[in-house]
Amino acid sequence: MMDSFIFPGLTTRVVFGAGTLSRAQEEVRRLGHDKVLVLSTPHQKADAEKLAESLGDLASGIFAGAVMHTPVEVTETAVEAFRASGATAVVSLGGGSTTGLGKAIAVRTGADQVVIPTTYAGSEMTDILGETASGEKTTRRSPDIRPETVIYDVDLTLSLPVGLTVTSAMNAIAHAMEAFYAPDRNPVIELMCRDAMVAFRDGIPRLIEDPQDRSARTKALYAAWCCSTALGYVSMALHHKLAHVFGGSFDTPHAETHAILLPYTTAFNEQAVPDLLRPIADTFGGGSAGGELWDFAQTVGSPMSLKALGIEESDLDRATAIAVKNAYTNPRPIDPGSIRELLQAAWEGRRPG
Ligand code: NAD
Repeated sequence: MMDSFIFPGLTTRVVFGAGTLSRAQEEVRRLGHDKVLVLSTPHQKADAEKLAESLGDLASGIFAGAVMHTPVEVTETAVEAFRASGATAVVSLGGGSTTGLGKAIAVRTGADQVVIPTTYAGSEMTDILGETASGEKTTRRSPDIRPETVIYDVDLTLSLPVGLTVTSAMNAIAHAMEAFYAPDRNPVIELMCRDAMVAFRDGIPRLIEDPQDRSARTKALYAAWCCSTALGYVSMALHHKLAHVFGGSFDTPHAETHAILLPYTTAFNEQAVPDLLRPIADTFGGGSAGGELWDFAQTVGSPMSLKALGIEESDLDRATAIAVKNAYTNPRPIDPGSIRELLQAAWEGRRPG
């Protein structure tokens, strides 16, 4: 039990279930809008078109150009499309890339956001926006960035490929892992994270067997909501810093990077706060949290090494230097030697002790 805490409250309205996409019109109207721009990636354009059709007169257009890491050039084009369409809100249908574009439009125009997440990445509940300009990714937080409404529709996740299902779930688990030791953690977030660990542990192996298993998809999407809430309401530390270093400076794919680093960052911090990470260790098998997550990752076919992601061993010194350049809060003190060791193990894919 925590002796003292601050619970900031949760501000985003959440609609969760199967077939909830049909509630989009009602949710847009509830926010007081009568013109919205629908956003997606090129890959999910057909889904965006279907959604726009179901929104009828409410949809003033579609912008299907969202890409990973929210490049500002794409945002500028999207903002022009948003203004030209006469929309006052966006409906973002897709994973973190589409949600990121919606946030980037919102922060520049004051648009409200209805987000319909289709991966487990977890951007939808957060006030965080990462953007890329001239090859550099920067992150900011602001209340204007946090979406007003999130519609989770289990049906939309049935099409998520098995590979992305696994890595996106590991990405979500990383939010919970850092929430367990966040200095600003609170009992509500902790309960959500504990629940999410069990739901992912049980749901992901079933989805590998059958990606269309609705009850496992429901578990996984519920867990994703819990983890996204953790990401959005308490502070993250070393794990997210390292994932940002690789995504931002080495252009590695987002979900895979999180998935590979997770057992190593967990094991690293477990040395300082074993009791706080006990819920993870207990959920995944009872050994060490880092070791159990590595075993789980291997069982579910997650990518296991930075080497397999195309990172060269010689890149690890530069990654270490970037990771330790600015100070940030972490349960275990950070120094170049120990971070370099962590990265070496993650590069080789060696099981953490
Ligand atoms: P993504 O949004 O880029 O999706 C990956 C690909 O999968 C895309 O082509 C997408 O169209 C496709 N896809 C998505 N859902 C699908 C489905 N159900 N069926 C079939 N295909 C589907 O990847 P992501 O991992 O969801 O998001 C990564 C991005 O989100 C990164 O840029 C990351 O920085 C950002 N992010 C931001 C936050 C935040 O709080 N700001 C949090 C998490 C992630």
